[in-house]
Amino acid sequence: VPDTRLAAVDGLREPERREIDATIRRTREGFGLPCALELRLDRLDRLEAMLRDREDQLLAALADDLGKSATEAWGTEIGTVFGEIAHLRKLLPSWQRPRAVPSSAPLVPSRAWADRQPLGTVLVVAPWNYPVQLVLSPLAGALAAGNTVVVKPSEVAPAVAEVLADGLREFLGDCVGVVTGGVPETTRVLQHRFDHIFYTGNATVGRVVMRAAAEYLTPVTLELGGKSPAWVDGTADLEVAAARIAWGKFVNAGQTCVAPDYVMGPPEVLTALEPLLIAAIGRLYGPDPSISDSYGRIATARHLGRLTELLDQVDPEDVVTGGQRREDERYLAPTVIRSSQDGPFMQEEIFGPVLPLVPVEDHRAAIDAVNAREKPLALYVLSEDEAVRDGFRRNTSSGGMAIGAPLVHLAHPHLPFGGVGESGMGSYHGEYSLRTFSHERAVLDKPLKPDTLKMVYPPYSALKARG
Ligand code: NAD
Repeated sequence: VPDTRLAAVDGLREPERREIDATIRRTREGFGLPCALELRLDRLDRLEAMLRDREDQLLAALADDLGKSATEAWGTEIGTVFGEIAHLRKLLPSWQRPRAVPSSAPLVPSRAWADRQPLGTVLVVAPWNYPVQLVLSPLAGALAAGNTVVVKPSEVAPAVAEVLADGLREFLGDCVGVVTGGVPETTRVLQHRFDHIFYTGNATVGRVVMRAAAEYLTPVTLELGGKSPAWVDGTADLEVAAARIAWGKFVNAGQTCVAPDYVMGPPEVLTALEPLLIAAIGRLYGPDPSISDSYGRIATARHLGRLTELLDQVDPEDVVTGGQRREDERYLAPTVIRSSQDGPFMQEEIFGPVLPLVPVEDHRAAIDAVNAREKPLALYVLSEDEAVRDGFRRNTSSGGMAIGAPLVHLAHPHLPFGGVGESGMGSYHGEYSLRTFSHERAVLDKPLKPDTLKMVYPPYSALKARG
């Protein structure tokens, strides 16, 4: 049936349009119920085999696109996906079993359970900052749940997109379709009907995705970003706090959705933190990070331009360390600045290697400051004071929270990962991926005899008489 909702898209030629449509149609045709457990496990095996086969190419592509060191790329991307696949494969059989619920007295005799079913064909749209993990981790979950999947890697990491497209077509061509390209291609993809859309990226495009999904009442998961704050106070070991914050901030040159965006603390604590952060950066990347093989690059000249424009608005007196840049290499040094709550870097998510230190009176003022902004994707508390930790936990809302270190909550296989409010909706990882990419069907089985339901049949006058 021709779909009248498929309109022309600016910047897309007829053959490209037809190829995208054919990819989506083929992926749809690949879906069928019930999608047995053995088939799902086989697909996870093939995903793992693809990753093993293309590992070296992916590492080279990550170095090309983002200047990622092989060790960091393994730790934050490839190794993470291997771990996710292994976790899904191990626990899928138990997660997939029908879940019996207790019988309900008014319905006796009967049995009831919830069945997890695949949704159909899922769309995964991924960004450039962790371009392997953010395609393959949701893909693994969607395949484990028995769906077929169309993936759209980011055009901002083109080398990775090409390796993934090639590998996925070779190893999983029967159940995964890949569309590469940018805005015109994604716009075309979004005109199609899917059974779920999983989008990771910024909130502006998140709105575009959600509008497109509304056309077919397609459910969405939106994995977005935001300004994730960190709180440090004098009860914390400041040397450890500085090391952990520097690591969480400057990994992938600050282009991490859950990176601590800025640090709040009492003024004297932030002053004490400054030399410790400088020392920590020195230990991580040496005296000149531009020649460190552990320090990444900014994705594009446009992204670097955004950061340097903001940096040029900062008073040089307020630059604690860093600020050096090299346009030809898309390099920006790990940078720490002093800022107020309304400084140039405090308007939007920074998404780069610049760390503002923002003094506040105490943790209550910091909680108010968090609550005055949109709900962040993550919140970090580095304090030994139980009342302070509890205060943040009870009185703020964020996608996730980690106490004592940034980023680590992401690595726990049994925790959901996702945002809330402006930082997103829905979650994934492990069993949460299975929930996201499945429909939980309620099933009730009531024997025809004895007909206990006759108690509720009309006429209701007779019902009343029966008491
Ligand atoms: P991006 O520019 O790669 O965009 C993401 C995807 O959206 C790409 O596939 C792109 O083709 C598509 N796209 C872009 N413009 C579009 C349009 N107008 N219409 C349709 N599709 C379009 O990545 P980005 O958005 O710059 O990513 C950075 C953001 O993502 C940050 O805000 C970051 O915090 C967030 N992020 C969130 C997570 C998470 O897991 N919550 C992870 C990584 C990044």
